[in-house]
This record gives sequence, structure tokens and C-alpha cells, in this order.
Amino acid sequence: MHAKYAPHATNTDVLIAGAGIGGLSAALSLHAMGIGVRIVEPVQVLRPVGVGINLLPHAVRELTELGLGEQLAATAVPTAEMVHYDRHGNRIWGEPRGLALGYHWPQYSLHRGALQRLLLDAVRERLGERAVVTGTAFVRCAEAEGQVLPVILRDLARGREHTVRVRALVGADGLYSTVRAQLHPGEGPPLWNGIRMWRGVTEWHPVLGGRTVAIAGSNAHAKLVVYPISNEAEQRGRALLNWVAEVRFPVEHGAMSGAADWNRTGRLSDVLPHFAGWRIGDLDVPALFAATRRILEYPMVDREPLPWWGRGPVTLLGDAAHPMYPVGSNGGSQAVLDARVLARCLAVHDPDREAGLRAYEEIRREATSALVLANRRMPADRLLQAVAERAPDGFDRVEDVLTQEELAELDAAYRWTTGTDVAELNGRGSWGV
Ligand SMILES: Cc1cc2nc3c(=O)[nH]c(=O)nc-3n(C[C@H](O)[C@H](O)[C@H](O)COP(=O)(O)OP(=O)(O)OC[C@H]3O[C@@H](n4cnc5c(N)ncnc54)[C@H](O)[C@@H]3O)c2cc1C
Repeated sequence: MHAKYAPHATNTDVLIAGAGIGGLSAALSLHAMGIGVRIVEPVQVLRPVGVGINLLPHAVRELTELGLGEQLAATAVPTAEMVHYDRHGNRIWGEPRGLALGYHWPQYSLHRGALQRLLLDAVRERLGERAVVTGTAFVRCAEAEGQVLPVILRDLARGREHTVRVRALVGADGLYSTVRAQLHPGEGPPLWNGIRMWRGVTEWHPVLGGRTVAIAGSNAHAKLVVYPISNEAEQRGRALLNWVAEVRFPVEHGAMSGAADWNRTGRLSDVLPHFAGWRIGDLDVPALFAATRRILEYPMVDREPLPWWGRGPVTLLGDAAHPMYPVGSNGGSQAVLDARVLARCLAVHDPDREAGLRAYEEIRREATSALVLANRRMPADRLLQAVAERAPDGFDRVEDVLTQEELAELDAAYRWTTGTDVAELNGRGSWGV
């Protein structure tokens, strides 16, 4: 599991800080383009932490083109539809997803740890055991020496720093990116919008048709997202349900106590009162929460979009570049897209690494900044809240609660945040050539 690499002369072409979804996808993409790459990751042994994650067809296409289609299909659940309900389980809005919507690639729901494991195994198999150096953190860059960038790393077990010389550095080191902090000093902590998110994974009976991403309530107060994430459980006639319960608290945007930590344990007694009596179709929500062995708690945070990402031979990728609210299955998906565009741009501009990095930023920065801002607006929420206020005890027909104009507005809001562009994705050429 753990490889060390000797700090001799110029070690590597591209160094990636961070073996998350973004860093590992970037390593595979660069390798596929024939570019030498190595990853450093502070965690000593990468364990399957986290809960569920969604991959849009855009990202599934890229991972499939990297040769991971079968591995994804073996672990993930292909999402059939996304449906929004009120807190009583009455359907407000829904649409087919992935293959059912006409994409050539599925949308997948899966365990984040399983995705990271699958990517890590592929990196080690294709690039060698020494490609991912665990127990080692990026510390800082020194002044570039011509085409060579000295990068200072820390071996965490020994407490020692050493320098490696690379041609390009990619900061894929997440929400608290050290690479970003060196490029953009004084930025401060992530921005919190007052929403606390409790998350869990529980084996359950299949609910709501079996392959639905179900969303109930609204972010005006309490909202629930539930979807199954395991093909293996589905084969046994069961469902491994991932759930996220979001509750808004009256806190000014920008203030947050403590760090956002994906591994922080949450308390059932904190979340349960907000969902008392919730029943979504055949899903008893409080029972699902109560049966969850470990509940995690995480604040809904992002950062202000950056006016530029990198300088010289350095850039950012994934959450380090554009952390966003988890709306529309975009966090992991956008990191995968970054990775593929990065590799393509470096290959096109080879051997000029700086030109390749700037071309990558040009393509990805505006697109992802727009998503960060769109996710903040939560455009559908006003209408979902209107449903709760106009029909607090539920309804028979949504047309009795929302006007035709409001229903059209809701449709447009969802299409924008979930990026429904079937013909465009199906029709464009591969980024891998
Ligand atoms: C432990 C963990 C659990 C998560 N669980 C979920 C989840 O359940 N559901 C979900 O939707 N999203 C989850 N996420 C976030 C999700 O993975 C990201 O939003 C998205 O996939 C983008 O990935 P990323 O690779 O950019 O960032 P991340 O996945 O955050 O990966 C960043 C990596 O950089 C490493 N790193 C940090 N500092 C340094 C440094 N100084 N030098 C080198 N490397 C460094 C981190 O250890 C981490 O492995 C989780 C993230 C983490 C780190």
C-alpha cells in the first residue's frame, strides 16, 4: 500500500498533490496521454471513507474512456430518475436520468470510498506501485529554476522535508488546499451558508422504485436526499441507501465554527427532530436515520470563485480550484472533467507545460465558477418552499398547488443545475485523442 520515493534530481514531469477523486483521475488521464506523473498524499493508508457520491454521464463518459466502465458498473447503481417530493411523499417534479434520458452513458450513484479505491487500483496497476506516495504532504513551492520547479514535501512519519524537482504541479488537495493557499494567500476559511448536513449509509429494503435519486422538502428549512449506491446490495434484493439530511440554521453567510471535516461524527438526536413524521412513499425517514450505524455531519460550504487559478508551472483542480455546494451531483463529476481537460491541454501544448496549464484553466475556470454561483442560488427552492406553504398537509395534483408558469420555472431551474445537454454530450468527440 505504501511507497516511498527517493528525493533525487528531477523526479517527475507532473506532480499532483492529493489522491482524491480529482488527483487520481488526473493521474490516469495524464498517463493515458503518455505524460509522466506522480501523486503525493498525506493519508498513510487510503481507506474507503465518505458516503455516497453521484457521477453525471459527463464524468462517466470520461472514466469509461479511461477503461473503467466495467469496474464502475460492478459497484455502482445506474440512476433511473430524479424525483422531488414534498415531505409527505407527494411528487412535485421528476425526470429520467442517465441512460433513461437518452445519454450514451449512465449516471451513477456509488460509495465515494469505492470510487476512490477503483481509481487508486487503476493508478497502481498502470503507473506502478510507486506512483502514489502516501504519508507525504505538499508543503510549498520554491522559485522556479528555468523549466524546473522545486517542490518541498514532508514525509509525515519521519517529520522530514525534502525537495523534488518537477515540470508542473497540480494542486488537487481539496477544500483546504495548501497549493491554493500559496497561490492565493489570505483567503480565509470556507464560506458556510448556515446549512448543516447529516449523512449516512444504511442497508434497507429497496425504496421508491429502486434506482431513484429522491429529494424531499426544501433548503428553506429541511431537505432530504436519498439514493441507493451499491450494485452488490441490489443483486441481493436489498438497497444500500445513502442519505443526506440538510437543515438550515439562522447563521449569517460567511461564519462557521470549526473546520469542515468529512469524518466528523454527527448525532441522531440533532437531526431527528427536523424530520419527525416524514414518510416519502415506502420510506420511513426517522426509521432509516435511527438504523444508521454511524452518522456524519458536514457543513454546506464553498469558496468564492477565483479570478485566476494558477501561475507559471502550477495549477489547481477539483475542490482545490472550485469547491461547491453538493447540488446537482457536480463535486466529483467536475473534478473528473478537470482531469481529462488538463491532460488533453498538456498533450496539445507539449512540451510547453505552462501553455498547457493556462489553456486548461481557460476552459475549466469559467464553467466551474458558473456552477459554484448557480448552486448558491438554489433556484428551485423558492417554488418548493411555496409548495410546503400552500399545501402543508400534502396535495393530490401538483397543478393545484403551482401555476403552469411556476411549473415551467421549476423545470428550467432543474435543467440548469443538473446540466441536461444530451445531444451535446452524445455528439461531441472524445477528449482522449
Ligand atoms: C475524506 C473525504 C470524504 C469525502 N466524502 C464525500 C462524500 O461522502 N460524498 C461526497 O459527495 N463528497 C465527499 N468528499 C468530497 C469529494 O470527494 C469531492 O467534493 C470531489 O470528489 C472532488 O474531489 P477532489 O479530489 O478535488 O478533493 P478530495 O476528494 O477532497 O481530495 C483531496 C485530497 O487531497 C489530500 N490533501 C490534503 N492536503 C494535502 C497536501 N498538503 N498535500 C497533498 N495532498 C493533500 C487529501 O488528503 C485528499 O485525499 C469527501 C472528501 C474527503 C477528503
